[in-house]
Amino acid sequence: MASPSQVKTYLAQWFQLGKRVSSEDGQNHYLPSPIFAGEAYSPDFEWIWSLISSNHADRFYLDGTDQSMADLLSTNWKIDSCARCQMPVPTSPVHWTCAICPCSDLTTWPNESLPKPRSPIQTQTHLRAICSRLKSTPAK
Ligand SMILES: [Zn+2]
Repeated sequence: MASPSQVKTYLAQWFQLGKRVSSEDGQNHYLPSPIFAGEAYSPDFEWIWSLISSNHADRFYLDGTDQSMADLLSTNWKIDSCARCQMPVPTSPVHWTCAICPCSDLTTWPNESLPKPRSPIQTQTHLRAICSRLKSTPAK
């Protein structure tokens, strides 16, 4: 099953490509801006997450997918990566699925010249990278 943190990462990556989460009736659309605040998810993202992972999780879908947030958070689904674009896609061991990636309607994706969508920065790793960059800079 996909853990809540995997589902959040999945959403964050698709949000970065402009995909929205929409309600079943098509009335409401959500796309946080910004997606991140420093190394964490932004308050906007967290607000949307608490809304779409609540009691009504069965009514929200990432655009271009047939799995509701409730499906993703159930034991029937897990998050895998798309063979075409490496982005996370839902797959299921119990439901038949042709595993259509949300990238199928993005004509400009995959795009090798753009940076890949990221997860929030891990502070330790990030700081270590900065430290080693500083150390390798010759002193004047
Ligand atoms: Zn894909």
